[in-house]
Amino acid sequence: MKPRVFVIVGAGLAGAKAAQTLRETGFGGEIVLLGEEPEQPYERPSLSKGLLLGGTADRESVFVHEAGWYAEHAVDLRTGTRVTGIDRAGRQVELAGGQRIGYDALLLATGATPRRLEVPGADLDGVLSLRTLPDSDRVAFALVDGGHLVVVGAGWIGLEVAAAARQRGATVTVVERSELPLLRLLGPGIARVFADLHRDHGVTFRFGAAVQEFRGEGRVSAVLLGDGTELPADAVVVGVGVGPNVALAERAGLVVGNGVVVDQALRSSDPRIYAAGDIANAYHPLYGTHLRLEHWATALHSGPTAARSMLGAEVVYDRLPYFYTDQYDLGMEYTGYAPPGGYDTVVVRGDLAKREFIAFWTAGGRVMAGMNVNIWDVTPQIQNLIRGKKPVDLARLADPGIALDDVTPLDAQPFAAGRSNRS
Ligand code: NAP
Repeated sequence: MKPRVFVIVGAGLAGAKAAQTLRETGFGGEIVLLGEEPEQPYERPSLSKGLLLGGTADRESVFVHEAGWYAEHAVDLRTGTRVTGIDRAGRQVELAGGQRIGYDALLLATGATPRRLEVPGADLDGVLSLRTLPDSDRVAFALVDGGHLVVVGAGWIGLEVAAAARQRGATVTVVERSELPLLRLLGPGIARVFADLHRDHGVTFRFGAAVQEFRGEGRVSAVLLGDGTELPADAVVVGVGVGPNVALAERAGLVVGNGVVVDQALRSSDPRIYAAGDIANAYHPLYGTHLRLEHWATALHSGPTAARSMLGAEVVYDRLPYFYTDQYDLGMEYTGYAPPGGYDTVVVRGDLAKREFIAFWTAGGRVMAGMNVNIWDVTPQIQNLIRGKKPVDLARLADPGIALDDVTPLDAQPFAAGRSNRS
């Protein structure tokens, strides 16, 4: 019998982990892993953290596998290879050179692309985005002691780059259209913690500001804001979000809406095609809705789940969203899902001013998400609270004297009657 061929489009973390899982679970057929970037699959978290600090993170440690792993495991990794189309009827992918590869199952893990700012000067040298390993090298090179760095967007990329830049001695101005960093995700109370953190380390914020133009002769030298302010800039990092790479899926006629729409087994509208990582808008059974998450942990875990699904296993991707950041001396982990409008009360356990706390985003007393800042080893307890799906006593949740494991659902507490929730 002809061996089955599984093709994976996208040689990032999700794709590489899917290939690994296929081999680990005994798949003996062919695995073709196609990646557009010239590098072997790598992980992105340290690209905007340790790698920017120069020397603190070993560059080799970003690679998902050692160079020889792919050949040793008969994974046909083809880097620098662009897939131009999917012929669903013929069950083939088409490569840029015209070559076609047949598949029995296909995994799309094509990741995301940084949004551009469509303003004059956006193509000037020194106006950088940060997504790939070469991007990270360029940004690291631009973080010069005494240099002027302008960061556009106070999201995760913007804040992590700002932290690294300050640690390298650059003068940093962050331009953000909202009134606080990470405002939509965190709400004002916790967003302020991040604003204060960066101010304490010498970052200047320009909130409620829009970039009108990047100025310079060939290379950027200034950023013009909407109010006429001109900020000196030796380099600019634009971190205004990313868009999922769904063009292939769209052209192939798959159901696409905020990413490739997949079920809880990560199967698309074509049962032979799966999606994982940044592009997968996957049904999440716990939240009862589709979620598209651009987190490192989603790539790490959804790739393997998709691989098992491709092999016909009855799988359900129901991991809770998780991500982390390190900025200066602040380390935090966030788990769960609490979109704007998806929560009513933020409960804080600990000390915001000391930046040592756990924040919980709650809706009707239910914990939807939690963030531990400079407090460690509590993610399992936070996840238990989220998975409990029942209202808890918010006063107990806020009380550091009560173990998180003892914050049980209200209806499970024998003496809960009479306690009132904070709201
Ligand atoms: P992001 O976290 O979504 O933040 C984008 C920021 O840019 C938001 O504050 C956004 O404000 C702002 N913005 C959007 N359009 C703008 C404009 N035209 N002018 C000025 N500001 C604008 O995206 P990112 O920082 O670019 O990161 C890209 C992806 O990588 C995200 O999914 C992020 O979560 C992920 N990432 C994660 C980590 C981590 O987990 N530690 C680290 C780096 C990157 P609004 O909210 O008002 O739109």
